Amino acid sequence: MEEKVQFKAEIRQLLDILIHSLYTEREIFLRELVSNASDAINQLRFEQLTNQNVHDKDAELAITLTVDPDEKTLTIKDSGIGMTAEQLQENLGTIARSGARAFLDAAAERGEDASDIIGRFGVGFYSVFMVADEVRVTSRSFQPDAEAATWISDGGDEYSIVSADQQERGTTIVIKLKEDATEFAEFFKIRQIIKQHSDYVEFPIYVVKANPGEDEAAPEPVNQQTALWRKSPREVEAEEYKSFYQQLTFDFQEPQHTIHYVADAPVQLYSLLFIPTSAEPGMMSIRREDGLKLYNRKVLIQEYTKDLLPEYFRFVRGVVDSEDLPLNVSRESVQASPIMGKLKSTITKKILRELKGLAKDTEKYTTFWESLGIFLKEGVATDPEQVEKLLPLLRFKSTTETEAWTSLADYVERMSDGQDAIYYILGDDAQSVQRSPHLDYFRKNGYEVLLFSDPVDPFMMQNASEFDGKAFKNVAAADTELPEATADAADEAKEDALEDASMAEVLVRFKSQLGERVEDVRTTDRLSDSPARLVDPEGAMNQEMQRMYRMMEREFEAPKKILELNPSHPIVKKIASLSSSAALLDVLIDQVYDNALLIEGLHPDPASMIARIQQLMQAVES
Ligand code: ADP
Ligand code: MG
Repeated sequence: MEEKVQFKAEIRQLLDILIHSLYTEREIFLRELVSNASDAINQLRFEQLTNQNVHDKDAELAITLTVDPDEKTLTIKDSGIGMTAEQLQENLGTIARSGARAFLDAAAERGEDASDIIGRFGVGFYSVFMVADEVRVTSRSFQPDAEAATWISDGGDEYSIVSADQQERGTTIVIKLKEDATEFAEFFKIRQIIKQHSDYVEFPIYVVKANPGEDEAAPEPVNQQTALWRKSPREVEAEEYKSFYQQLTFDFQEPQHTIHYVADAPVQLYSLLFIPTSAEPGMMSIRREDGLKLYNRKVLIQEYTKDLLPEYFRFVRGVVDSEDLPLNVSRESVQASPIMGKLKSTITKKILRELKGLAKDTEKYTTFWESLGIFLKEGVATDPEQVEKLLPLLRFKSTTETEAWTSLADYVERMSDGQDAIYYILGDDAQSVQRSPHLDYFRKNGYEVLLFSDPVDPFMMQNASEFDGKAFKNVAAADTELPEATADAADEAKEDALEDASMAEVLVRFKSQLGERVEDVRTTDRLSDSPARLVDPEGAMNQEMQRMYRMMEREFEAPKKILELNPSHPIVKKIASLSSSAALLDVLIDQVYDNALLIEGLHPDPASMIARIQQLMQAVES
C-alpha cells in the first residue's frame, strides 16, 4: 500500500516557514515530540483502566530516544496508544493546534522574519521540520487487530502513507536530521535537553546510542519522573515548582503564586496549583483549555477537568490527585462521583485562604489584583455562597483613593462619623465615572465613593448587599438617602441659589422644551459643580439591572428619567435670566439635557450634538 496525499495549504505554509527557519532554539521540537509521546502513553494507560484487551499489554510504558551520529538520525519511540493509518492521516494531516494557527497569523503579519518568533508558539508536531530533512512516523495502534503504517514527509507538497511491519504497540518517529542540525544526534546533547525540558514527564525517558559500545551499561531513565505533587511540600524546592509549572504549561513566565496542598480530610488529595501571571494562556502554552489535570493514584484521568474549580477560578493551573476516587473510573463516572464535589469545595476554600494570605503582601497582591482581580468580581456575581469570603479580597479605586487600590476594610476605616453606608457609583469607564454629577454632593461633604467601571461591576453589586454591617448604596439611585451635609457646604449652597419663583419658571421652560423626553424636571440640592443630573423615577428598575440588561443586549427600554437642576449653577441662572423669546434658550436647554445623558453613558448619538454646539460657539461675543 502506498498513498500520496497533498498537504493542505495551511500546513504547506507552516512547513515552508519551519523548513527555512533560522530560529536558534530549535530544540523545542523535542519538547513537542516528547509531550506527544507522553500524551499517547497517558491515553493508553487510561484505556487500560477499563480494557484489558490491548495489543502488547505488558510492554513497558516508556519513551526511548535513539541517537545515531553516523546516520545523522534521531529516533523517538513510545509505547503509547498508537495510530492507525487513518489516524496518521487525520492527526498529522490537519492543523489541530491553536498555537500553530496563532503562529501562522503572527507570521503573516511579520512576513520574512517570522522564524524569530517560533519559540513563542506551541507549533506542535510540525516543529520537527525545523531540524528534519525527512520524517517517518511509524505507528501500531493498541487495537488488537490494527495494522502498522508509516507516514513519510520531507516537508514537500505531499506526504505518503505506506504499510509497515512494526509489531510493537506505539509510535516510532525517525528524524533524518538536516546538515546543520546534526547536534541532535549527539548523546549528551539530547540528554541535556531532556533534563531541561522534560524532567517531570511521568514516564521514563531513555536516551540510547544506536551502536552502543560493548561496555555500555543498561540505560537508566534520564528524567526524574517525580509526581511532585505527591511529595511533602517541605521537601520541594522553589526552583522545582517553577520548572514543574513551566513544563506543565510551557508558559515562559513564572507563576505568581504556588499552592502545594496535601490533605486527608474531608477528602484525601494531593494538589499542586499555580496562579499564572495572566489568564491569557501564553502563545506557546501547551494547555489549550482551562481545567486541572486530574489523577487517580498517578493515572491521568482527565487532562482538562473543569469541575474541580468554580468557573471564576478558571485561571488556576495544576494537578489534583486523589486516592478517594473510585478505581476503574470512566470520565463520565468521575463527573458523577460525589468525591468530585468534595474535592471542588476543598480546593476552592484553599485557594480563598491562600488569596487572603497573599493580600497581606500589598505589592504581590496588587500584581495579582491587576492581572486577575476581575475573576474575583465575577465570583461575587456568580457564587452567593462565597460572597462573604470574596468581598474582603476585592480592591477598588475611589473618589479619594484614585491611585492606590483600596479594600472595603480600608474604606470602612476611613468612614466619617455617623456614616452608615458604603457609597459607590457605576459608570462606563474609569475616566467618565469620576465626572458624574451624582458625586457632587458626596465630594463636597467629604464622603468617599467607590468607583465601579468594569462591565462585571453591576452584576457584582446585584449580589453584594453589605460588608461589615454596612449596606452598599448606589449614589445615583433616586432612593439613596443622603448622608448628613457638613454645615459650611449647606450654607454655601443656599446663599447663591436662585429664588424659588425664578426656579419655578426655569422648570416650566425645561418641561415645555423637553416634553416627552423626560419623566419630570425638578430642583435638587445635591448638585454643586454640575448644572443637572438624571435620576430614575421611583419604582424604576435599579441601575444595576439596567446596566446588566444593556450589557447582555437584552431588549429593554430604559425608564424615562427625571432631570434634576442645580439652582446655584451659573448655566441654570443664565437660563433664568434670559427672556422667554431669547434666540438660544431652547438650544441651551437641549444641550443641558444632552450633557446629562452623555455623562450617564446614555446618549444614543453624541455626534448629533455638534450642530448645536457650533450654534452656541458662534454666539460667543467678543
Ligand atoms: P497536539 O499534541 O496539541 O494535539 P500535535 O501537532 O503535537 O498537536 O500532534 C497532533 C496529533 O497527532 C495529536 O493530537 C495526536 O493525536 C497525534 N500524535 C502525535 N504524536 C503522537 C504519538 N506519539 N502517539 C500517538 N498520537 C500522536
Ligand atoms: Mg503535541
